[in-house]
Amino acid sequence: MKALLIVDVQNDFCPGGALPAPRANEIIPVINELMDRFEIIVASRDVHPPETLHFDKWPPHCVDGTEGALFHPELNILKIQKGFHKGTGNEDDGYSSFEATNENLNKYLLERKVTDLYIVGLTTEYCVKTTALDAVRSGYNTNLVEDAIAAVEPGSVNEMDAINEMKNAGVQVISSGDIQVD
Ligand SMILES: [Zn+2]
Repeated sequence: MKALLIVDVQNDFCPGGALPAPRANEIIPVINELMDRFEIIVASRDVHPPETLHFDKWPPHCVDGTEGALFHPELNILKIQKGFHKGTGNEDDGYSSFEATNENLNKYLLERKVTDLYIVGLTTEYCVKTTALDAVRSGYNTNLVEDAIAAVEPGSVNEMDAINEMKNAGVQVISSGDIQVD
């Protein structure tokens, strides 16, 4: 069974937000269209408390209860079956979707016999990367949909390093056009 994992498509990671990936808006239609090709669709969100050590490293973003923490309004959230909240503690970075605290993502996927994960969302260098690396470590056939992710610094060395680190770990980099309907 395959599943679509949407990472952090939240207002604060989109243009106009606190920590934006400049091209985030371009991937949202691609993700919406991809949802038609999956039976299992889950999504993670950064849900930070107002005060957290995480904000020593980053500008405050995705604070619980604020507009910035919400999914981008153009994302078709009706098709998302379960949301996973991460970074919810005050010492908790929560980069990876597998660090969700409201529910165990790995357990949720195993219960649904998921073997193949397709990762999309924000941002390439941070939460997408750590999620993909955790997915490989957890034993999933892990696919990164390159036209459905966006970086904080597009075209940067950091972005290229992140893609290479994922590839070297065993992540398959594919295009949304490669994914067939179940
Ligand atoms: Zn965060």
